[in-house]
Amino acid sequence: MDATLTFLGTGTSMGVPTLACTCAVCTSTDAHDRRLRPSVLLRWRQPQADATTGSEAGIERVVVIDTGPDFREQALREKLTHVDAVFYTHAHADHILGMDDLRPLSFIAQRRGGPIPLYADRETTAVLEQIYSYTFSPQATYPTRARLELKPLAECNEVDGVEFVRIPLLHGEMPINGFRFGNAAYMTDVSAIPEESFALLEGVEVLALSALRHQPHPSHATLEQALEWSRRIGARQTWFTHIAHDLGHEETNRNLPENARLAYDGLSVPVTL
Ligand SMILES: [Zn+2]
Ligand SMILES: [Zn+2]
Repeated sequence: MDATLTFLGTGTSMGVPTLACTCAVCTSTDAHDRRLRPSVLLRWRQPQADATTGSEAGIERVVVIDTGPDFREQALREKLTHVDAVFYTHAHADHILGMDDLRPLSFIAQRRGGPIPLYADRETTAVLEQIYSYTFSPQATYPTRARLELKPLAECNEVDGVEFVRIPLLHGEMPINGFRFGNAAYMTDVSAIPEESFALLEGVEVLALSALRHQPHPSHATLEQALEWSRRIGARQTWFTHIAHDLGHEETNRNLPENARLAYDGLSVPVTL
């Protein structure tokens, strides 16, 4: 089944431009150097046999991975009218602070049959429940709270016929989650890929992988390390994301191998589910 992976944001936690910074990338006039906080969107049409016409109509399905502080702006840009599910990689601010902006989309989901499922591991669930207690507490009474349902993240999670496989990763000391769907995988905030996770990535052709900068960082891979992983995984095409202001789009891309590029906000790439 054909699907599209769209980069909602490709910046690091502070975004690019970074506040108060006057470096060449932060002051660049190249639109590719403007990076919102990291998130992706997967869209596909779920085949639906139409009983009246016998034709194969399809329902558009939309899954978002992480809702960062820029989610509202990103959703407007992509003209999102519904979301079928959200997956969370981990509970850092740049990945979760836009959750409340799911509210209008969650009202639509509720009218169509139920709350939007949010798949999150135990640690992420605990943080979301604490920050958004007015949404998740059993005592919550705020009338226009988001209609969301936290679901425990399993090794394999099915959304409307598509499997999302959890890829265990390390972000410094913190265990976090990447996701594989069909021939693609999204792995952000990675500093190490445990050996067992490589087996789950076998056959991945389109890889979206974080690469912060050239200089080492305790919780993020460098571009060089990320390139090495993409070679080992054998991806046909690698798109780097979660990019800091150290990496200018044009200049960095000139020095990358042909099948690896910095992604940019709004980029859509075809994947197969
Ligand atoms: Zn991050
Ligand atoms: Zn993080």
